[in-house]
Amino acid sequence: MASHSLLLLPGDGIGAEIMKEVEKVVDWFNENSDMTFDTTEGHVGGAAYDRHGQAISDEDMAKALEVDAVIFGAVGGPKWDKVPYDVRPEAGLLRLRKEMELFANLRPAICYPALADASSLKPEVVEGLDILIVRELTGGVYFGEPKEITDLGNGQKRGVDTQVYDTYEIERISKVAFELARTRNNKVTSMEKRNVMKSGVLWNEVVTETHKNGFDDVELDHMLADAGGMQLVRWPKQFDVIVTDNLFGDMLSDVAAMLTGSLGMLPSASLGAPDPVTGKRKALYEPVHGSAPDIAGTGAANPIAMIASFAMALRYSFEEVGAADKVEKAIEATLEKGLRTKDLAKDGDTVVTTAEMGEAIVAELAALN
Ligand code: ATP
Ligand code: MG
Repeated sequence: MASHSLLLLPGDGIGAEIMKEVEKVVDWFNENSDMTFDTTEGHVGGAAYDRHGQAISDEDMAKALEVDAVIFGAVGGPKWDKVPYDVRPEAGLLRLRKEMELFANLRPAICYPALADASSLKPEVVEGLDILIVRELTGGVYFGEPKEITDLGNGQKRGVDTQVYDTYEIERISKVAFELARTRNNKVTSMEKRNVMKSGVLWNEVVTETHKNGFDDVELDHMLADAGGMQLVRWPKQFDVIVTDNLFGDMLSDVAAMLTGSLGMLPSASLGAPDPVTGKRKALYEPVHGSAPDIAGTGAANPIAMIASFAMALRYSFEEVGAADKVEKAIEATLEKGLRTKDLAKDGDTVVTTAEMGEAIVAELAALN
């Protein structure tokens, strides 16, 4: 009997509401499968700040490093706009990413057939879309030094950011992309700007080299990131896994997000390096959206991104692929039945609350059994 440990960090705003729905799914598996989940709950963001003046306590941080997977809701809100910078709610997530060394950010863009008309593209372009963007998360221009604004003394200033990538950083992210492609449609597209950036030249070389050394069963293409953006909105189904740097990944994954409709639908995973002994990666799963303070407490939050993030944990941390498929099928079946939270609803749709959506998904899980 497989036992998995989870740390639930609901956070702020709708984070707590959507985490309740994940707990229903976890409980369902505890009662109806041969997996068991050992869950602990902690605090992050404003919720942690209000308790102990930190965006995450040392105790919860230590727990995050210990468990098989962290399930994270969302942080922030107007209540904490004035708290000191280094303990602001977002600092909790940044500390988790840093100490867990989560260098690989996985953002699937899946278009459920029932929602194909919610996309900003034509339904036939997105229906059945299933792509995965693998974004490098701990390097590149967001962290490279120097990073500064200098005074040039003649009434002019200079803003400087530096894009830096070392071989090992490109190698480890491309390995993640190749390994994931093997579990999907076996195709990786690497995106950079080697025509104007040295880091792009190196990126291209290292991905090519990594591919030769152990991954040449996977199909590999290279694309300039600007052309890649264009192709993503022209014919996104040509892609399977896209691997790219921190900055391009940030932009391209937001573009891909809008192919699928609502922000309330999009899950994500952030993975660290495999443990040298157990081979297990540290991992954090969270919805792409934020804490949505504008709708917190109203029962309008869509819990699907959060539940789909848990499905990613089943797939990538626990290797419970069957269970992951099942959760995704339950989501799909619920949508097929016409249930919609407010963010997804059009005229004539049945609008349900956060809790009703969660319960409907659990009911579908049971029905699939
Ligand atoms: P962050 O900076 O944390 O990413 P944000 O201000 O960019 O936050 P969100 O909190 O994600 O954005 O909210 C953006 C909009 O989308 C809001 O109007 C919010 O109500 C809506 N929204 C976000 N998540 C959901 C959800 N799960 N269900 C319904 N609506 C949502
Ligand atoms: Mg945002």
